[in-house]
Amino acid sequence: MDEKIKLVAQKIKESKQLVFFTGAGISTESGIPDYRSQGGIWDKFKPVYFDEFMSSKESRIRYWEQRLDMEKSLSVSKPNQGHKSLAKLHELGILKTLITQNIDGLHEASGIPKEKIIELHGNTRRVRCMSCRKLISWQKAKEMIDAGDKAPVCSCSGYFKPDTISFGQAMPVEQTKRAAMLSSKSDVFIVVGSTLLVQPAALMPEYAKNAGAFLVIINLSETPYDNMCDVLIRGKAGDVLKKIVNQVVKGKPIAQSFMNL
Ligand code: NAD
Repeated sequence: MDEKIKLVAQKIKESKQLVFFTGAGISTESGIPDYRSQGGIWDKFKPVYFDEFMSSKESRIRYWEQRLDMEKSLSVSKPNQGHKSLAKLHELGILKTLITQNIDGLHEASGIPKEKIIELHGNTRRVRCMSCRKLISWQKAKEMIDAGDKAPVCSCSGYFKPDTISFGQAMPVEQTKRAAMLSSKSDVFIVVGSTLLVQPAALMPEYAKNAGAFLVIINLSETPYDNMCDVLIRGKAGDVLKKIVNQVVKGKPIAQSFMNL
């Protein structure tokens, strides 16, 4: 493991276009369950597909119930060691792009600016009308639910939905194109905490590898890309990223507080 950490740190230091690609696994240490692990969200709920959401009030209510359940962990979650380690790489000017499948907003909360983050699946802290596209805050939607509207509706009669991409819903065109382009231009591409099963997001590591990037996967369980990556680390995102970043900053003057993260 130590040799792998040193090699990845070395590649990060030498990189010109470092891209990180994160999934639900980086946020489990912040108390937000992932989808596919044991005890994850799919053990508890059946996903609501986009066409079901749009065609049935019962499905919309079920969807909002799931979102309210997620709020229990989301409302108390904070960026963990993994998020903070990536924020440190941003601060050092080494991280160029962060592509995330996560919808929890924790990368931005860790101090990485919006412009560097591509949220492929949106952000659940805001809510959008599916007809007029108006955005409202989560708090506003919650007030409507608390007032008795179990599936809130916009003044234009459109359905409000958290601003995330559901199964069967079209991907955001600009973000997906930008992510594909930056993945193809990366020289070091690091996946953290994803099963790499959700398409088209999971194509990004393939674009990077095909274009010659050094591909690293840090994940607790196996992924379909394990055989094609240059370094595979089975470990907890927080611990592994802390070790890697401490190795990157070794020899540079750094704040003691970071070493003790
Ligand atoms: P996933 O649930 O399919 O896989 C998560 C992976 O992370 C698993 O392979 C698991 O072994 C690994 N993992 C869990 N904890 C880890 C840790 N501490 N360190 C390292 N690895 C760890 O997640 P995915 O691939 O991101 O699935 C895609 C969908 O899940 C995305 O669309 C995303 O929007 C959604 N999602 C997001 C959140 C969030 O925003 N936090 C939470 C649940 C689901």
